[in-house]
Amino acid sequence: MSATTPLVEVEAIARRYTMKKGVFGAPIEVRAVDGVSFSIRRGETLGIVGESGSGKSTTGRMVLGLEMPDAGTVRFDGAAIPPIGGAEWRRQRARMQMIFQDPLAALDRRLPIAAQVREPLDIHLIGNEAEREARVVELLRDVGLSADHGRRYPHELSGGQRQRAVLARALATRPDFLVCDEPVSALDVSIQAQVVNQLIDIQAALGLAMLFISHDLRVVRQVSRRVGVMYLGRIVEEGDADDLFATPVHPYTRALVSAAPHPGRKPTERIVLTGDPPNPADRPSGCAFHPRCAFAVARCRVESPVLADLGAGRQVACHLASPAGAGGVPTGPKLPALEVA
Ligand code: SF4
Repeated sequence: MSATTPLVEVEAIARRYTMKKGVFGAPIEVRAVDGVSFSIRRGETLGIVGESGSGKSTTGRMVLGLEMPDAGTVRFDGAAIPPIGGAEWRRQRARMQMIFQDPLAALDRRLPIAAQVREPLDIHLIGNEAEREARVVELLRDVGLSADHGRRYPHELSGGQRQRAVLARALATRPDFLVCDEPVSALDVSIQAQVVNQLIDIQAALGLAMLFISHDLRVVRQVSRRVGVMYLGRIVEEGDADDLFATPVHPYTRALVSAAPHPGRKPTERIVLTGDPPNPADRPSGCAFHPRCAFAVARCRVESPVLADLGAGRQVACHLASPAGAGGVPTGPKLPALEVA
């Protein structure tokens, strides 16, 4: 497989759940993820950003094979994800690891850190006794922890140290692909930068492919080369990270970017999203964003926009977005009624 061939290929995956509205309510179908496609090459990071309820985490779980999609396919290194629990699935899982938001929940409180970092080596029968011991020391060092940290229990470490321990454990099997789901959201802001920088360094050194899921644009921007913006189970905009944050096209992306702290931006330039946050159980007709969109026209209420390639490496799902002109960038809807704070 060449370096340019995607390591991870996700094609139109969908996940639906059935839930009841109230005790006596009729069952309703919730489309948590609805036709998401993307690919990630070796050494590349795709950031997925969106509010709670946008389907980011469900997407990450399906990509890892922890949940099977109701429709669509996930391919890893050219092969479909095998059925969960089998020997082939375990073999593939050793090459695909996940880092969750809460490191304390991800660690066993009754075991010292070193034993937990070693666990994947024991499970996958990697190396002999001495080699596993040496590998644990190496892994702890790679994430900025000492052998002394390895002797401690999870509650004896800080939040940042715990997340480093989780990262060390995830790297034990020398994976090719990491899914990070809100990996620094539970940490103090001062610690977040350290852990993110560590992750970037390790990813670059090992050439890992990474799917980085977060609601925090600032962090996603720092980590990702490409970014997909999710809203109610769908990607509404995808493109090069720097370009997308410099010239967001979709009205939802524009609102998210305007709300992210930026040294040169005045508070008055912030676009305020009106209406309720996304609720997958109550999906609006047409463009799901239309109740909150300052640009919505009649068509938006009845017709769902498709994710279209607008040139300059940008894909956008908006009826009013325009393709890039010669050498330019795509543009979003222009209306006088932009709501500003
Ligand atoms: Fe807004 Fe319409 Fe574009 Fe949806 S399709 S983002 S409602 S302008």
